Order: sequence, then structure tokens, then C-alpha cells
Amino acid sequence: MNREVGAVERIRNIAFGTALAAGVLASGCATETAEPATVNQGTTTTEVIIAELEDPTTTINELPPSDLPKMTDPEAGLCIEPQPEDFDQVREWLAEPKNPALIPTYSGKSDDGAFEEFEETSQAFLEELASDLDQTIYDATPIIEDLNNLAMANSSEGNYYNLPFQDYLSATQDFMANYGVQVMVGTPDMEYAYGGGAPDAELLESDNAKQTLMNVLYAFSEQPDEYITDVAKLDDIVLMSGAEDEVGAYAQPGEFRNQIYIDIQPDGEGSALESDSIHHELAHLVDFDACNGGGYYSDPAYEQFNGGLDIYDPDVIYDTVTVEYGDYIDLAGDLMSAKIAAEETGDMEQWCDVNDREQAIGAEVLTYSEYHPEVGEDKAEVGAGLAQQYMYNVLTDSRLPVLKNKFELLLARLHVRNPKVAEYFIKTASRPYIDPLEADC
Ligand SMILES: [Zn+2]
Repeated sequence: MNREVGAVERIRNIAFGTALAAGVLASGCATETAEPATVNQGTTTTEVIIAELEDPTTTINELPPSDLPKMTDPEAGLCIEPQPEDFDQVREWLAEPKNPALIPTYSGKSDDGAFEEFEETSQAFLEELASDLDQTIYDATPIIEDLNNLAMANSSEGNYYNLPFQDYLSATQDFMANYGVQVMVGTPDMEYAYGGGAPDAELLESDNAKQTLMNVLYAFSEQPDEYITDVAKLDDIVLMSGAEDEVGAYAQPGEFRNQIYIDIQPDGEGSALESDSIHHELAHLVDFDACNGGGYYSDPAYEQFNGGLDIYDPDVIYDTVTVEYGDYIDLAGDLMSAKIAAEETGDMEQWCDVNDREQAIGAEVLTYSEYHPEVGEDKAEVGAGLAQQYMYNVLTDSRLPVLKNKFELLLARLHVRNPKVAEYFIKTASRPYIDPLEADC
């Protein structure tokens, strides 16, 4: 099969530090027409959403206008169909009682040394579990620390990125060689989608280029080798530049090589691609494989959780509350932070108020990808959470049944593909946030 399937990402402004990649499409259709997202740094999108959700008469967030034709995927129905026992096993692992002595939990509180202690116990736990499950993981933390320490020692102004680009590239190439993944700088003779090309030498010395590689290290650290090589089947990471506006990266499944192209944004014109976006691209490759090369425009088993609504049709406005996925994750993170803050100050009233908002939002929300509203992008955004342990709090929250059902389906498909990878991810996932004050509201 020789389809060109690119999954393009846009760069978002990051208002809350938890930006998820928002993705885009596309198979034989590279024209982007949706309006770019704007995350207003003053009145935040999250505040607007909260305000609107508090008003039960408001219908918010019309889906963005788009001229994209609605396509029917000729290969729909080719996705892995997990058996009931796959779902049962996944749910059993998710529901397992968490032993705080075994699974480290970072409370988010700012006690002295709390985070360092969490990191140490966390690393020991990951290594032991990986060993039990015959998984091989690699910790990039020492490499990241070395680069940071060298850079700081080398700079009187505290610039993290003042080592030569080649230092970051070599370190990343060495680390990714563990997974058999080549990291390369694109050359003029290579083929690029979305108007991209080879980056020039000056761009490679930008902070963004170096930070992009650091984010690659973050993204792949502690990922089981089998997930990268057998499930995502990633072969190459290619650095490029000059792609169309806001195309941050795209996944390029191929007959011989599966590749992720990352567009380096010039300093001041865009930000470095986040590690979350790299997980989004990996999720495209995982989905591409799970759906036998189809499933981008249609995936009935997944879409059934949208309650009969075609939330990917940009021409339809729904009465139900819909929130763009990245905004929703930001919102959930903000609400969790607000609860932790209220907990630390013992402000019961505030805590209960935030809790009420969470409850009100949960069952109502359908999330969608705002850029190219296709099921393939929805899957990539939810699927990015498979390998991101800190996302499980949100993605398995029973108050968010739509997300939970979608995520469980993707986990069950992963279980079919590789049970031990699924087990590793689920068992290393962060624990659901425990609300010590919950019973008092
Ligand atoms: Zn995407």
C-alpha cells in the first residue's frame, strides 16, 4: 500500500503548560482550512469555558468552519476488534487497588524534596515492573541532566541551549538507537509534505531546534522498546523546516519506513514541538497499524461513543456541550490544580465549588479535535495518553464516560497487539487523584 498519510500538528500557544498536540490530517488532502486556534493569554480559554459551563442555557464552541469534504474511508472496519476478554483484562488492571507503598504518587504539593523523592521511587518502580514484564525501558534523564549541566556551566547567562546543535543531535541519536530509531536532519534530496524542506544550518543552532531534541528525549524516556518497535513501528525521526503555517509535525507511515517529521519553528515565530505532540504522532502510527492502514476517516467502533452524533462534521452545530480536546485537558488540569490549592489552604468552600464544576462538566463533554475534525485525530489525541502515565487520571475518570470508553477501546486494541505493553502502561499510570475532602461536600 502506498498511501500518503500525513498527520499534521499545529503549534499551539501554551497557556497552562499542559498543551496537547492538536492534530490534523491527511490522506490526499493537505489543505488546511480551519481557523487557527487562539489561546488568549489574558482571559484564558479555560475561564471562558468554565463561565459558559456554569450557565446551563449556553451552547458553546461551535465546531470550526471547514471546507474539507467529508470522506468515507474505503478501509473502514479493518481496525482490530478486541474480544470481551481484552476489555475485561484492561479494566481489571485499571481497577486494581493501588498500593501506595509500591506505586509512587506525586501529590502535586510543594513540600521540600517531595518531587525529588517521587522521581527516585518512581524510577525504581518503573524498572522493576518493566523487568517483571520482560520490557526494556531506557531512562533519558541522565542524558538530559548532562546536557543541561554542560550548557549551564558553559553560559554566564544561564542559557540552557548554548551548546552546539550537534551535541543535542548526537545525544538524541545515541539514545534513540536503543529503539533502532534513526534521528536525522532532513536533506534537500528528501521528500517532504506540507511544503516543508531541509532546515538550514542557522536554524539548527536555534533554541527551538535544540529544545525539540530535548523534548524527543523526554517523550521516549521509559517507553518500552516493544511499544516503539513492535506497536508503533517507528523507524525514523526527521527534522525539517518551513512547513505550512502551524504544521508542527506529521506522521508518515510508509511501506518501508514509518517516519515522524518534525518542523523546527524559528525562534520567535513558534515554539519547539512538545513531547505530548510526539506522543500524538506515535498514536497515529499505532492507530494506522491497529486499523490496517485505514481507520482515519471512519472507525465505527470508536465513533459509537459519540452518542450517535457526528461530532466530526464541521457543518453541524450541536446542542450538547462540546469542548476541544486540548482545551478540555487544560481545563481538567486547572480544576485539579485548583482543588490541590484549596486542599493546601483548607478552603473547603472553594474545594467543593471546584468539585461541583467537575461533576457538571463530566458527563456532558464530547471532545473533538478542532483542526481537522476527523476520527483519526480524535484517536490520536486520546491515544497519545496510552504512553503518558500522567494522563490516566483524566482518561479513566468515570465522570468522563465518553473519554473513558474511547480510551478503554484503544487500550483493548493495544492489549490485542501486545498485552505486556498494555500492562506496563496501565500499571505504571498515575493513580486517580484522591480527594481527601470529597466526603465533606
Ligand atoms: Zn494528528
